[in-house]
Amino acid sequence: MKLILLGPPGAGKGTQAKRLEEKYGIVHLSTGDMLREAIASGSDLGKEVKEIVEKGALVPDAIIIQMIEARIAAPDCGKGFILDGFPRTVAQAEALDVMLTGKSLHIDHVIELAVEDAPLVKRISGRFSCAACGAGYHDEFKRPASEGVCDDCGGKAFNRRKDDNPETVKARLEAYHGQTAPILPYYREKGVLVTVDGMADFNAVTAAIEEALG
Ligand code: AMP
Repeated sequence: MKLILLGPPGAGKGTQAKRLEEKYGIVHLSTGDMLREAIASGSDLGKEVKEIVEKGALVPDAIIIQMIEARIAAPDCGKGFILDGFPRTVAQAEALDVMLTGKSLHIDHVIELAVEDAPLVKRISGRFSCAACGAGYHDEFKRPASEGVCDDCGGKAFNRRKDDNPETVKARLEAYHGQTAPILPYYREKGVLVTVDGMADFNAVTAAIEEALG
Protein backbone atom coordinates (compact mmCIF):
# COMPACT_ATOMS: atom_id res chain seq x y z
CA MET A 1 0.00 0.00 0.00
CA LYS A 2 1.25 3.45 -0.92
CA LEU A 3 -0.21 6.38 0.95
CA ILE A 4 0.20 10.14 1.13
CA LEU A 5 -0.70 12.10 4.26
CA LEU A 6 -1.45 15.71 3.41
CA GLY A 7 -2.25 18.56 5.76
CA PRO A 8 -0.81 21.75 7.24
CA PRO A 9 2.10 21.70 9.70
CA GLY A 10 0.85 20.46 13.07
CA ALA A 11 -2.12 18.57 11.60
CA GLY A 12 -0.81 15.32 13.11
CA LYS A 13 0.68 13.71 9.98
CA GLY A 14 3.78 12.42 11.79
CA THR A 15 1.80 10.92 14.69
CA GLN A 16 -0.67 9.20 12.38
CA ALA A 17 2.09 8.00 10.03
CA LYS A 18 3.87 6.32 12.96
CA ARG A 19 0.67 4.49 13.90
CA LEU A 20 0.02 3.39 10.31
CA GLU A 21 3.62 2.25 9.96
CA GLU A 22 3.15 -0.07 12.94
CA LYS A 23 -0.25 -1.34 11.89
CA TYR A 24 0.43 -1.99 8.19
CA GLY A 25 4.18 -2.70 8.32
CA ILE A 26 4.98 -0.10 5.67
CA VAL A 27 7.73 2.51 5.89
CA HIS A 28 7.10 6.06 7.10
CA LEU A 29 8.94 8.51 4.83
CA SER A 30 9.10 12.07 6.15
CA THR A 31 10.97 14.50 3.90
CA GLY A 32 11.15 16.92 6.87
CA ASP A 33 12.92 14.24 8.97
CA MET A 34 15.31 13.48 6.09
CA LEU A 35 16.18 17.17 5.74
CA ARG A 36 16.65 17.60 9.52
CA GLU A 37 18.98 14.56 9.55
CA ALA A 38 20.96 16.06 6.65
CA ILE A 39 21.23 19.37 8.52
CA ALA A 40 22.32 17.67 11.75
CA SER A 41 24.97 15.64 9.90
CA GLY A 42 26.43 18.76 8.26
CA SER A 43 26.35 17.13 4.81
CA ASP A 44 26.44 19.21 1.61
CA LEU A 45 22.67 18.73 1.28
CA GLY A 46 22.24 19.82 4.89
CA LYS A 47 24.28 22.98 4.34
CA GLU A 48 22.30 23.79 1.19
CA VAL A 49 18.87 23.52 2.84
CA LYS A 50 19.54 24.66 6.44
CA GLU A 51 18.56 28.30 6.04
CA ILE A 52 15.49 27.50 3.92
CA VAL A 53 14.13 24.96 6.41
CA GLU A 54 14.83 27.19 9.40
CA LYS A 55 12.86 30.07 7.95
CA GLY A 56 9.90 27.82 7.05
CA ALA A 57 10.15 28.14 3.25
CA LEU A 58 10.04 25.22 0.82
CA VAL A 59 13.23 23.53 -0.36
CA PRO A 60 13.50 23.59 -4.21
CA ASP A 61 11.55 20.83 -5.95
CA ALA A 62 14.60 19.38 -7.74
CA ILE A 63 16.40 18.65 -4.43
CA ILE A 64 13.36 17.06 -2.82
CA ILE A 65 12.42 14.98 -5.87
CA GLN A 66 15.94 13.56 -6.14
CA MET A 67 15.99 12.77 -2.41
CA ILE A 68 12.63 10.94 -2.40
CA GLU A 69 13.33 9.08 -5.64
CA ALA A 70 16.47 7.56 -4.11
CA ARG A 71 14.62 6.70 -0.89
CA ILE A 72 11.64 5.03 -2.61
CA ALA A 73 14.02 2.81 -4.59
CA ALA A 74 15.38 1.25 -1.35
CA PRO A 75 14.37 -2.38 -0.64
CA ASP A 76 12.45 -1.52 2.56
CA CYS A 77 9.90 0.38 0.44
CA GLY A 78 8.96 -2.77 -1.48
CA LYS A 79 5.86 -3.45 0.65
CA GLY A 80 4.71 0.16 0.42
CA PHE A 81 5.21 3.48 2.18
CA ILE A 82 3.52 6.42 3.85
CA LEU A 83 4.63 9.77 2.49
CA ASP A 84 4.53 12.53 5.13
CA GLY A 85 5.42 16.04 3.96
CA PHE A 86 5.80 15.04 0.32
CA PRO A 87 4.56 16.04 -2.21
CA ARG A 88 4.25 19.70 -1.23
CA THR A 89 3.87 21.27 -4.68
CA VAL A 90 2.03 20.28 -7.84
CA ALA A 91 5.43 19.81 -9.55
CA GLN A 92 6.42 17.31 -6.82
CA ALA A 93 3.09 15.46 -7.20
CA GLU A 94 3.60 15.20 -10.96
CA ALA A 95 7.20 14.02 -10.52
CA LEU A 96 6.02 11.37 -8.05
CA ASP A 97 3.53 10.08 -10.60
CA VAL A 98 6.25 9.84 -13.22
CA MET A 99 8.53 7.98 -10.75
CA LEU A 100 5.83 5.47 -9.81
CA THR A 101 4.44 4.97 -13.31
CA GLY A 102 7.96 4.09 -14.44
CA LYS A 103 7.84 1.17 -11.97
CA SER A 104 4.20 0.27 -12.82
CA LEU A 105 3.14 1.54 -9.38
CA HIS A 106 0.61 4.11 -8.20
CA ILE A 107 -0.59 5.91 -5.07
CA ASP A 108 -3.49 4.01 -3.49
CA HIS A 109 -4.82 6.64 -1.08
CA VAL A 110 -4.27 10.30 -0.25
CA ILE A 111 -5.51 11.31 3.19
CA GLU A 112 -5.98 15.00 3.92
CA LEU A 113 -5.93 15.90 7.63
CA ALA A 114 -8.03 19.06 7.67
CA VAL A 115 -7.31 21.55 10.48
CA GLU A 116 -8.04 25.29 10.67
CA ASP A 117 -5.03 27.61 11.00
CA ALA A 118 -5.94 29.08 14.41
CA PRO A 119 -5.22 26.00 16.60
CA LEU A 120 -2.08 25.06 14.69
CA VAL A 121 0.23 27.72 16.12
CA LYS A 122 -0.57 26.53 19.65
CA ARG A 123 -0.25 22.87 18.67
CA ILE A 124 3.13 23.38 17.02
CA SER A 125 4.66 25.82 19.49
CA GLY A 126 4.36 23.40 22.43
CA ARG A 127 5.57 20.21 20.83
CA PHE A 128 8.71 18.23 21.58
CA SER A 129 9.88 14.68 21.00
CA CYS A 130 12.01 12.00 22.58
CA ALA A 131 15.58 12.25 21.26
CA ALA A 132 15.96 8.46 21.38
CA CYS A 133 12.74 7.05 19.89
CA GLY A 134 11.00 10.09 18.40
CA ALA A 135 7.78 9.74 20.45
CA GLY A 136 5.89 13.02 20.29
CA TYR A 137 4.78 15.14 23.30
CA HIS A 138 3.22 18.54 23.94
CA ASP A 139 3.66 21.03 26.80
CA GLU A 140 -0.09 21.35 27.23
CA PHE A 141 -1.80 18.41 25.54
CA LYS A 142 0.48 15.43 26.14
CA ARG A 143 3.22 15.54 28.76
CA PRO A 144 5.12 12.33 29.60
CA ALA A 145 3.40 10.42 32.45
CA SER A 146 6.58 10.79 34.50
CA GLU A 147 8.09 14.27 34.06
CA GLY A 148 11.22 14.22 31.90
CA VAL A 149 11.01 10.50 31.03
CA CYS A 150 9.74 9.16 27.70
CA ASP A 151 6.65 6.95 28.15
CA ASP A 152 7.71 4.68 25.28
CA CYS A 153 11.44 4.07 25.78
CA GLY A 154 12.43 5.65 29.11
CA GLY A 155 14.70 8.16 27.32
CA LYS A 156 15.50 11.34 29.25
CA ALA A 157 16.54 13.68 26.45
CA PHE A 158 14.03 15.59 24.33
CA ASN A 159 14.24 17.74 21.20
CA ARG A 160 12.33 20.78 20.04
CA ARG A 161 12.37 21.66 16.34
CA LYS A 162 14.05 24.96 15.55
CA ASP A 163 11.23 25.81 13.09
CA ASP A 164 8.47 25.19 15.69
CA ASN A 165 8.15 28.85 16.72
CA PRO A 166 5.24 31.24 16.04
CA GLU A 167 7.03 33.33 13.33
CA THR A 168 8.21 30.31 11.33
CA VAL A 169 4.87 28.57 11.70
CA LYS A 170 3.28 31.56 9.97
CA ALA A 171 5.65 31.16 6.99
CA ARG A 172 5.00 27.40 6.93
CA LEU A 173 1.23 27.94 6.90
CA GLU A 174 1.60 30.43 4.04
CA ALA A 175 3.65 27.87 2.11
CA TYR A 176 0.97 25.26 2.79
CA HIS A 177 -1.91 27.39 1.55
CA GLY A 178 -0.02 28.89 -1.39
CA GLN A 179 1.93 25.89 -2.66
CA THR A 180 0.67 22.66 -1.10
CA ALA A 181 -3.14 23.01 -0.90
CA PRO A 182 -3.30 23.30 -4.74
CA ILE A 183 -2.33 19.59 -4.80
CA LEU A 184 -5.72 18.63 -3.32
CA PRO A 185 -7.71 19.05 -6.57
CA TYR A 186 -4.99 17.09 -8.39
CA TYR A 187 -5.66 14.03 -6.22
CA ARG A 188 -9.41 14.66 -5.98
CA GLU A 189 -9.63 14.36 -9.76
CA LYS A 190 -7.79 11.05 -9.59
CA GLY A 191 -10.43 9.79 -7.12
CA VAL A 192 -7.91 8.86 -4.38
CA LEU A 193 -8.44 11.76 -1.94
CA VAL A 194 -10.25 11.34 1.39
CA THR A 195 -10.54 14.23 3.85
CA VAL A 196 -10.47 13.44 7.57
CA ASP A 197 -11.24 15.87 10.42
CA GLY A 198 -7.80 16.49 11.89
CA MET A 199 -9.29 18.35 14.88
CA ALA A 200 -10.80 15.14 16.27
CA ASP A 201 -9.08 13.18 19.04
CA PHE A 202 -5.91 11.34 17.81
CA ASN A 203 -7.56 7.91 18.17
CA ALA A 204 -10.65 9.06 16.26
CA VAL A 205 -8.40 10.38 13.47
CA THR A 206 -6.58 7.02 13.29
CA ALA A 207 -9.94 5.20 13.12
CA ALA A 208 -11.18 7.50 10.34
CA ILE A 209 -7.99 6.94 8.33
CA GLU A 210 -8.19 3.17 8.78
CA GLU A 211 -11.79 3.23 7.60
CA ALA A 212 -10.77 5.23 4.52
CA LEU A 213 -8.06 2.67 3.78
CA GLY A 214 -10.63 -0.10 3.97
P1 AMP B 1 7.99 19.04 7.96
O1 AMP B 1 8.77 18.24 8.95
O2 AMP B 1 7.26 18.19 6.97
O3 AMP B 1 7.11 20.08 8.62
O4 AMP B 1 9.07 19.85 7.09
C1 AMP B 1 9.94 20.79 7.69
C2 AMP B 1 10.52 21.70 6.61
O5 AMP B 1 11.28 20.92 5.68
C3 AMP B 1 9.52 22.45 5.76
O6 AMP B 1 9.06 23.64 6.39
C4 AMP B 1 10.34 22.73 4.50
O7 AMP B 1 11.28 23.77 4.73
C5 AMP B 1 11.14 21.44 4.35
N1 AMP B 1 10.42 20.42 3.54
C6 AMP B 1 9.98 19.20 3.97
N2 AMP B 1 9.40 18.52 2.98
C7 AMP B 1 9.46 19.32 1.88
C8 AMP B 1 9.00 19.20 0.55
N3 AMP B 1 8.35 18.10 0.15
N4 AMP B 1 9.23 20.23 -0.30
C9 AMP B 1 9.90 21.34 0.09
N5 AMP B 1 10.34 21.53 1.34
C10 AMP B 1 10.13 20.54 2.24
